[in-house]
Amino acid sequence: MAQILAPSTQWKMKIAEIYSTYTTPTTSKMSSLLLRQNKKGAHTSSNKFQVLAIKSENSTINRLENLLNLDITPYTNKIIAEYIWIGGTGIDMRSKSRTIPSPVEHPSEIPRWNYDGSSTGQTTGVDSEVYLYPQAIFKDPFRGGDNILVICDSYTQEGEPIPTNKRHGAAEIFSHPKVIAEVPWFGIEQEYTLLQKNVKWPLGWPLGGYPGPQGPYYCGTGADKSFGRDIADAHYKACLYAGINISGTNGEVMPGQWEYQVGPCVGIEAADHIWCSRYILERITEQAGVVLSFDPKPIEGDWNGAGCHTNFSTKSMREDDGYEVIKKAIINLSLRHKEHISAYGEGNERRLTGKHETTNIDTFSWGVANRGCSIRVGRDTEKNGKGYMEDRRPASNMDPYVVTALLAETSILWEPTLEAEALAAQNTSLKAKKNHATGLPPCIYVDLPS
Ligand code: ADP
Ligand code: MN
Ligand code: MN
Ligand code: MN
Repeated sequence: MAQILAPSTQWKMKIAEIYSTYTTPTTSKMSSLLLRQNKKGAHTSSNKFQVLAIKSENSTINRLENLLNLDITPYTNKIIAEYIWIGGTGIDMRSKSRTIPSPVEHPSEIPRWNYDGSSTGQTTGVDSEVYLYPQAIFKDPFRGGDNILVICDSYTQEGEPIPTNKRHGAAEIFSHPKVIAEVPWFGIEQEYTLLQKNVKWPLGWPLGGYPGPQGPYYCGTGADKSFGRDIADAHYKACLYAGINISGTNGEVMPGQWEYQVGPCVGIEAADHIWCSRYILERITEQAGVVLSFDPKPIEGDWNGAGCHTNFSTKSMREDDGYEVIKKAIINLSLRHKEHISAYGEGNERRLTGKHETTNIDTFSWGVANRGCSIRVGRDTEKNGKGYMEDRRPASNMDPYVVTALLAETSILWEPTLEAEALAAQNTSLKAKKNHATGLPPCIYVDLPS
């Protein structure tokens, strides 16, 4: 078995070399393994080593793949749990593996764990222990079987959430009785960019150059328009397998850029699902040798940035006369614009320029069916008098714990002063009338509180 553990240059041998090199018989343990595999009808051959081998396109033999795909269930009840957490930058994901005695169904069945926070930029070296609390589990699409991915958040030894743990505060908002009663739904559109590994230039773009201008790429097909579909598609299936509430995917306006949607999810689940889907994407791109970027404006110039539109509704918004509740929430959102913007992702000012389907970061606007506004209300919502709204401001690198909790807080828990509310409402209706009179597109700019 030793040769299987050898470095890649040794185990990736040409078939001819394998024939001449490995003529020693297998051990008895190994042949029982081969027998089992043979029974499943996967491979047949008279040569024992060939039985284990998978033939790849370039005629090299990769027996690691066999080991990765080993079904261990006949031999052990143990499973592998991949503990996942957010690192010090607030967007990097870290993970490590641990054996659990038997399959589990709930995060409370697996132990808390710890990691070295000084190596993730989250503590000083002196007191480096950070504790992981399992919060949500998903099926592991990489290991298969009963193995799991575990979304955790991070605490000090005393049980205090560390500063980068945004889940803790979000869980408080989502456990507020008023918020629970409003059953908040979130549908998050996660955009991302794929980059060529060594040059960090978008996938499909000529090295040192640019592709033709935007236009043909959005939802495009064809070798000159769609770059990285296998990654997007592999991710889609892996997410469905994992139990993530992924609802769709599409190619984006900038070539090499993609989007997938998660939701509608209730409360904190939206953010747990987004973080797990990001982790899976990062693992798939790792395998594909492509770099994943959540930068809100990966390429300067006339190229769309990457956002994380957050669609949101409460029970009252989804019920009759919900449109009035939506408009009231929009007034609250306008009054807290600056607070929201500061929590909507690093570098978002490079994306929210007022061009490329965005509003300028310093203005707040809303409108029906208008993609140039901060908040968009769908035509169906206006027509039905109920539904949801889309906050188009969050950047692709936003923390969904922060954004979903803030949306719930501002629209369900927060109350403006009566004076501020009256002013904003008057201001909004004046602007709406003016827009209507001049035949301007239905985007209503609301003056921000000074
Ligand atoms: P866009 O037209 O902006 O590209 P998408 O189809 O990409 O929109 O995403 C819309 C998202 O809104 C989906 O994730 C969907 O699940 C979500 N959604 C639909 N209805 C609601 C609702 N009532 N409340 C919250 N989110 C919703
Ligand atoms: Mn979309
Ligand atoms: Mn999009
Ligand atoms: Mn959208």
